[in-house]
Amino acid sequence: MKANYGYLDGSGEFFITIDTDLCIECTDHGCVDACPLGLFEIIVDDYDDDVAAIKEEHRKKLKYDCAPCKPVSDRPPLPCVEACAPGAVTHSW
Ligand code: SF4
Ligand code: SF4
Repeated sequence: MKANYGYLDGSGEFFITIDTDLCIECTDHGCVDACPLGLFEIIVDDYDDDVAAIKEEHRKKLKYDCAPCKPVSDRPPLPCVEACAPGAVTHSW
């Protein structure tokens, strides 16, 4: 399942999408330690599987919370994306 966390406002769409089917097979949960602001957590979903999610308190301010990882020019690879070996994490902006 693709789980979308974020919002849309006048300045754009700010969503982090997590492919939780890939999380089920993930053993290291690298996203959790990789994010400098600790946006990720591991939750138990409706099917009793451990999957990644974005913490509730960050979901409505992703544009601002993720800004340090996203300079306007020379953007480096995002830590959360790089740390997720299965490739479950994508950003809309
Ligand atoms: S590292 Fe990727 S696959 Fe593993 S729990 Fe985090 S988001 Fe899911
Ligand atoms: S872009 Fe940076 S702050 Fe945003 S979720 Fe990824 S690692 Fe965390």
